[in-house]
Amino acid sequence: MIVLEGVQKLFGDFQALRDIDLVVGRQEVVVVCGPSGSGKSTLIRCINRLEAHDAGRILVDGVEVNDDVRNVQTVRRETGMVFQSFNLFPHMTVLENVTLAPRQVRRQAAKEAEATAMELLERVKIPEQAHKYPGQLSGGQQQRVAIARALAMRPKVMLFDEPTSALDPEMVAEVLDAMKELARSGMTMIVVTHEMGFAREVADRVVFMADGEVVEVGSPEHFFEDPREERTKLFISQIL
Ligand code: ADP
Ligand code: MG
Repeated sequence: MIVLEGVQKLFGDFQALRDIDLVVGRQEVVVVCGPSGSGKSTLIRCINRLEAHDAGRILVDGVEVNDDVRNVQTVRRETGMVFQSFNLFPHMTVLENVTLAPRQVRRQAAKEAEATAMELLERVKIPEQAHKYPGQLSGGQQQRVAIARALAMRPKVMLFDEPTSALDPEMVAEVLDAMKELARSGMTMIVVTHEMGFAREVADRVVFMADGEVVEVGSPEHFFEDPREERTKLFISQIL
């Protein structure tokens, strides 16, 4: 579903991504972790062209992410993204937030978009919040709205960039539960997170990054019980 081959990204003369190779299969859940500044956000931002890579190739479901705007449009439409900051529109209700893109981009009729939105809000367990504004919701609820909003476009891939890092501790579980349910439903997911319980439970593979490189890739068992690289061992000892 996602292929990265020799991907490089420079910011000026700083190399944020060095020769990244990564293949994510259909329905696979890949957790990406690593120290701050290691290039995790840059990696997933390159996949939907929020950043343009400088070398190598990126394909999403066979469509190359490149200068061709039609390709970028296709990939963005098929890729849902959830950020650390929820980025909901504050002047729109929850329902309006979730129906906006399907109505404007997919030209769905209001009724149809609303019916889908309500199903998705039920899926993330907040249908009763549909008519509230984001400011009236807790952080955990807002992040679940952000997930529902991304799903409303019926993406083939979901990218999460530290979706629980900005939440109060008591709200982390409700967001992770929504993500676990999504993973079980067969969604292809790349999740940047340091929630190692989540990684153990749902990741098919864990990717460890440092200094713009993929240092180690393995199953959660391999990653936690038997990491090979010194940098991985050090990182794990610091976060567990
Ligand atoms: P992570 O998400 O792993 O913390 P990032 O991908 O955000 O790391 O950043 C990787 C490196 O690239 C960092 O050193 C960061 O300062 C740098 N970087 C990220 N975005 C930009 C940018 N727009 N301009 C310049 N440097 C950037
Ligand atoms: Mg980041």
